[in-house]
Amino acid sequence: MPHILIVEDEAAIADTLIFALQSEGFTTRWLSLAEQALAEQQRSPADLLILDVGLPDISGFEACKRLRRFSEVPVIFLTARSEEIERVVGLEIGADDYVVKPFSPREVAARVKAILKRMAPREPLAATSASGPFQLDSERVQIHYHGQLLSLTRHEFRLLQHLLGQPERVFSREQLLDGLGVALEAGYERSIDSHIKSLRAKLRQVAADAEPIQTHRGLGYSLRLV
Ligand code: CA
Repeated sequence: MPHILIVEDEAAIADTLIFALQSEGFTTRWLSLAEQALAEQQRSPADLLILDVGLPDISGFEACKRLRRFSEVPVIFLTARSEEIERVVGLEIGADDYVVKPFSPREVAARVKAILKRMAPREPLAATSASGPFQLDSERVQIHYHGQLLSLTRHEFRLLQHLLGQPERVFSREQLLDGLGVALEAGYERSIDSHIKSLRAKLRQVAADAEPIQTHRGLGYSLRLV
């Protein structure tokens, strides 16, 4: 059974989450400090983190940034204020979803389930495939570009993998988000642009002028095999 780590300083909120998640068959661990959670995730990794933004030691955002240095575990943020949501949907912090307090614990459990389902391995594709200058190795979660291994985040890898699936096809931001396995929430579309931006920068480091990712104004993005 998937193991969920809840990082929340309000016991009453944590209790309702623990109850809802355990009712769905998940195992849970509850911690109230971000530093404890980071240490715990290094010691015995959970399958998903539910992370409160307002924690007593460091903010959930800072915690997620530190977490991303060593783990790609899915993260759902618990946010209290609308200004926090702005930052979460930026997604540069690397969150998978968020819920706003007060929330329904059952809704959170449903989202946990949905994210873990999306994370589950899909049907086995050819382990490696070459498309133009790109070499995709889905088992090792690696993409080589012009023979060089790209250092990609989980979202960047999925994004490029999705574009590589159908070169030259124009994908809308919504379709790309779907490929990333990120919830389709209002505002999330913008996060695609920031992932594309960082992905382009990494591709440019290998081939400065190739620009394989094309922007189609008002439509989305496509990939050219250059
Ligand atoms: Ca709090």
